[in-house]
Amino acid sequence: ARIILIGAPGVGKGTQSERLLARFPQLVSISSGDLLRENVRRRTPLGLEAEAAMQSGNLVPDSMILNLISDDMKSKGWLLPPRTSSVQPTASSSSSSLADTSSSHSIDSSASFILDGFPRTATQAATLDSLVPVNFVVHLITPPSVILARIASRWVHEPSGRVYNTDFHPPKVPGKDDVTGEPLTQREDDSLETWKQRLRKFEETSKSLLEHYDRQRCLFRAEGNSSDEISPKLFAEVERRFC
Ligand code: AMP
Repeated sequence: ARIILIGAPGVGKGTQSERLLARFPQLVSISSGDLLRENVRRRTPLGLEAEAAMQSGNLVPDSMILNLISDDMKSKGWLLPPRTSSVQPTASSSSSSLADTSSSHSIDSSASFILDGFPRTATQAATLDSLVPVNFVVHLITPPSVILARIASRWVHEPSGRVYNTDFHPPKVPGKDDVTGEPLTQREDDSLETWKQRLRKFEETSKSLLEHYDRQRCLFRAEGNSSDEISPKLFAEVERRFC
């Protein structure tokens, strides 16, 4: 299965992705947001460049995301070398990224994956199409008012990415991670203003993305007021299609 999760900020893409991984062990996930946050945390050049856009609730440039995803796919051994190339590879051939449209990379089609938060734009989707066709695109749908109430109570353990919710998945000790006991923090981009901007961006960019996948007839709408309501629908559909 090659799965994409699309949804408004805070709809629970990360949660559904985690649950799918636990239920279907053959899957591996890549989260563009997690990769970016990891780069910001480590103060890498890419992280420093991405930080302002992320904090203001805007998207980072396509080229940056495509580089990030291609590096991660390469490290997982999924990105196959260009099929035809007149250019001899050199030791410094860092040009072989997804952003480099002149390359003819492809993804190992036996890879079974979930992409969480990527692609987010029509350009990213077209690039992915040229590498490997996805076969299950999930649009996670929860009313924005419900999401808003939920993200106000979202707390994370940054080093591990573990997510808690003070309403329905509270940490055992308030403010502390269950496993390490370290302090929990709230995502900077979960603040009300930033979330609203992220939602605006999502509404602006997702329409063409969803139409793109609707045309390919692989779009599935998973609707509910909570992750618990959505998960069973998602599991059933993955089982129906792939198991
Ligand atoms: P997320 O965790 O998926 O909500 O992503 C957090 C932030 O990272 C977003 O608000 C964007 O600024 C950035 N981001 C993540 N994925 C992408 C992407 N595919 N394209 C552009 N920006 C992205």
